[in-house]
Amino acid sequence: MADGEGKIGNNGKKVNLLVVTYPAQGHINPLLQFSKRLHHKGAAVTFVVTKFLFNNQPNSDHPPPFPVETISDGHDAGGFPSAVSISDYHDRFKHDGSQTLRDLIRRKEDAGRRIDAVVYDGVMPWVLDVGKEFGLRTVAYFTQSCAVNNIYYHVYRGEIKVPVVAEEEIRIAGMPPLTTADMPSFIQVVNPYPGFSDVVINQFENVEEADWLVCNSFYELEHQVLEGMKNKLSMKTIGPNVPSFYTDKRIDDDRDYGFNLFKMNNEVCQKWLDARPKASVVFAAFGSYATLSVEQMEELAWGLAQSNSFFLWVVRETEAAKVPVKFAEATVDRGLLVPWCYQLDVLSHESIGCFVTHCGWNSTLEALTIGVPMVAMPQWTDQTTNAKFVTDIWKTGVRALLDDARIVRRTTIADCILKVMDNNGGTKIRKNATKWGELAKRAVDRDGSSDRTVDEILAQLVSV
Ligand code: UDP
Repeated sequence: MADGEGKIGNNGKKVNLLVVTYPAQGHINPLLQFSKRLHHKGAAVTFVVTKFLFNNQPNSDHPPPFPVETISDGHDAGGFPSAVSISDYHDRFKHDGSQTLRDLIRRKEDAGRRIDAVVYDGVMPWVLDVGKEFGLRTVAYFTQSCAVNNIYYHVYRGEIKVPVVAEEEIRIAGMPPLTTADMPSFIQVVNPYPGFSDVVINQFENVEEADWLVCNSFYELEHQVLEGMKNKLSMKTIGPNVPSFYTDKRIDDDRDYGFNLFKMNNEVCQKWLDARPKASVVFAAFGSYATLSVEQMEELAWGLAQSNSFFLWVVRETEAAKVPVKFAEATVDRGLLVPWCYQLDVLSHESIGCFVTHCGWNSTLEALTIGVPMVAMPQWTDQTTNAKFVTDIWKTGVRALLDDARIVRRTTIADCILKVMDNNGGTKIRKNATKWGELAKRAVDRDGSSDRTVDEILAQLVSV
């Protein structure tokens, strides 16, 4: 099967796929990249987002190379922020989303375009039910690590009791022993964001019916976890799903995810980074959702300042009021604050020395792929588990620990940055980061472990 020929298989059959996404930046990005891979290998992809997101994204310099269509989450005018509660949002999304997805599939069929399979974000298991109504094959796509999915699967089956008991050490085949603090926040005793847990745990309610389960990870990174879970859950890895420019470069003009919910500040960041020495800058960013307390923002600000490094700090507009007064002015000779940036471009800039991150799975995979060492400051959801693997299993970073008041203090942050940036202590971490970067790139390159899996799925789709 040749890449990019526009058809697949000896019979020349072209596979028609619908890729249905969950409306959040950290979910859209990897599914978009997976879609680009499928498209590059000859599949005809229609990418499906909610009406609200479609109407509210700032323009992209690199729009997706396939059609984007919409379904409704029941909140077309205001999206998730306009919902009365998290569960109300998901209930309406399931109801209105199912209905409008059926309409979309029918429209395609009426236009003579038979859909072969639907690829959907695992947090929307109702898409599988709709797909089955039309006799479509189904691919459940998991946007979090295999380890995290494995934990949620055990919770779903009642094999891990929630909330996890504080002193208990959790043992799961293929996984390192995990403490409560290593678990996703949703199942810890201290869960600051109740409400989303149903969504991540119920991902597994109909997985047995899916034709494939794929995860945005790569075999080499999580082979022990995958081997440990394979008798219960057959999950395949197809990642890292980041733009091809940062991995195998096989897809032309694929430098940006291409569906940005925030406005980029590329030129400002690049110009500023260009003027800094190699490996001298700390990049701090906490993704698209996490909200830090005022106290934590203050500690982070002064921790960055105390590190005596240059720093580029992403503070989303909704977080900006928490930055200490006059902090930007006081640190103007060493720091730059922006409301959003093109993270991959920043991470791959040679001036970057380390990444202070919330350990969102995309950010973690991006740092692993580019080979940037991390200071892990997990906030919620799967980030706590990702931080455990970054620091103790893959050993590409250090964890900035909470104090008794559950705040990471400025001295801790500054010490962690120094540890990673330091020429002696940080050398091993940087070496590991480079090693994982090479393995990540190899996984998606021709005949790599993830590349082979994508080929296998497509080959099975054309053979029916
Ligand atoms: N991101 C970005 N610019 C920023 C911060 C984040 O482009 O200034 C991107 C980042 O590259 C990643 C996504 O937003 O692809 C965040 O996903 P992640 O899973 O790390 O965190 P979440 O937003 O889901 O908490």
